[in-house]
Amino acid sequence: MASFRTLDDLGDIAGKVALVRVDLNLPMKDGSATDVTRVEAVKPTILELTEKGAKVLLLAHYGRPKGQRHSTMSTSFVQGDVEEVLGKEIMFIPEVMGPVVEQSIGILRNGDIGLLDNVRFWPGEEANDPEFAKGIAAHGDFYVNDAFSAAHRAHASTEGLAHHLPAYAGRAMEAERKALDAALGNPETPVAAVVGGAKVSTKLDVLENLVGRVQHLIIGGGMANTFLAARGVDVGKSLCEHDLTATANKIMDTADHAGCTVHLPYDVVVAKEFAENPASLRTCNVHEVGPDEMILDVGPQAVEALGDVLKTCRTLVWNGPLGAFETEPFDAATVALARTAAALTQDGSLTSVAGGGDTVAALAHAGVKDDFTFVSTAGGAFLEWMEGKDLPGVSALTA
Ligand code: ADP
Ligand code: MG
Repeated sequence: MASFRTLDDLGDIAGKVALVRVDLNLPMKDGSATDVTRVEAVKPTILELTEKGAKVLLLAHYGRPKGQRHSTMSTSFVQGDVEEVLGKEIMFIPEVMGPVVEQSIGILRNGDIGLLDNVRFWPGEEANDPEFAKGIAAHGDFYVNDAFSAAHRAHASTEGLAHHLPAYAGRAMEAERKALDAALGNPETPVAAVVGGAKVSTKLDVLENLVGRVQHLIIGGGMANTFLAARGVDVGKSLCEHDLTATANKIMDTADHAGCTVHLPYDVVVAKEFAENPASLRTCNVHEVGPDEMILDVGPQAVEALGDVLKTCRTLVWNGPLGAFETEPFDAATVALARTAAALTQDGSLTSVAGGGDTVAALAHAGVKDDFTFVSTAGGAFLEWMEGKDLPGVSALTA
């Protein structure tokens, strides 16, 4: 792992101004946040800096204002929620640079926190304009990036600032980076990857990257149907991208050459209508799916076999549910395999890292979110990392 400057590398920062990029893009309803996980995630970094006497200026985006001030997208809307999580008052500053910011810094005492306005109000942010980054940087003594979820974007506040100020990873960024490195960068082998979810087309790059890097590729969800169809299985009315069967075959060939075993379900849970506990529900072999049936989950025998595969592995990386888990009983395979992975993790035999919007929801539904080694809430950035892409926000912090 290339060296990465963290808060441990900061010297005496009392009275210094820290520009801290955080993710405050909170889901809101009726003027307050419905989920403050993102604030909880950056709390340790913010408090560590304030306890050391820095003046902390929070820098964040909110929504997609496309380079213009938008009265409905000011970061001032999340100020109350941030104050509540931090247990501290903060000062809202309706700019990101200029005299108002300078005056506000003058008012802040050591250990105080200011919240700058939505950095995406200015076109220089998304354009990663060096002059814009320089303008912000002029107010700070150093830069801390604690927003892994925005690290797949090369914007001024996520990448550009690192070129104008001494740059450090915050604690959340550091933890995410360590977990991802343990899962795919430099993992203990054998490594298993679970890739599920609705469609192959949204995860082609993920599959292509993983086949060369893991020993077991477990394919579930709607995307397994496309792979089954490619192998000549009649998947009936299942969600299936028939135009991608050639691609699926190519991925399976690449896997063969790379010594990666691809696991597809051999029994499945099917129904004629997609509803909770439908009358037509049954479990069958993949070769017995009727023309009017849909595959909605991986079957119990396959799940047991997959559990046995995980028992032989040291590392697991998971993105995408194995079935249509939002509707019972099509959550069964996802819940069972997640619990096996969680138990192996707790026993110390498996390092397990998972991510993806629906995956996080599925693991929470299975009650094992806290039993995995690491669960990433950074949707887009997590997927780009699984695709093997360089994340500009992370690279910029790497010396
Ligand atoms: P993530 O958000 O974790 O990356 P995706 O968005 O790719 O995951 O996929 C999640 C969706 O896939 C869920 O809404 C789930 O219902 C759906 N899904 C999983 N298996 C099936 C299936 N067999 N048929 C239809 N939809 C499925
Ligand atoms: Mg999703």
